[in-house]
Amino acid sequence: MSSDLHEPARPDWLCRLCSNPFPCSGYQEALLRRHTQSDGAVDWVRIENTMCRHFASAAGDMPNAICGPLHHRFITWVRLARNRTTAAANVARFTQARTSGTR
Ligand SMILES: [Zn+2]
Repeated sequence: MSSDLHEPARPDWLCRLCSNPFPCSGYQEALLRRHTQSDGAVDWVRIENTMCRHFASAAGDMPNAICGPLHHRFITWVRLARNRTTAAANVARFTQARTSGTR
């Protein structure tokens, strides 16, 4: 899978494939796919654990980086994606309940 080639080049944490700051969108999409089950359930804990490990490694590699923006770069996107996914699932459930006549 070509998207799995979006991996960090250390110590500057740019993507080896697309040269964008890691985690680039290609890596994020691959990570989400890797941890999404056939029924659509996403293992958010595993994704957050993965990104927390990357965050800790990046902080070690870039000791002069400011923690807040680094945390935003590595962790916040997971929470935003989780919120979007949860909202989309809620809309789907509501729509299905309305069309089937149940609440
Ligand atoms: Zn990339």
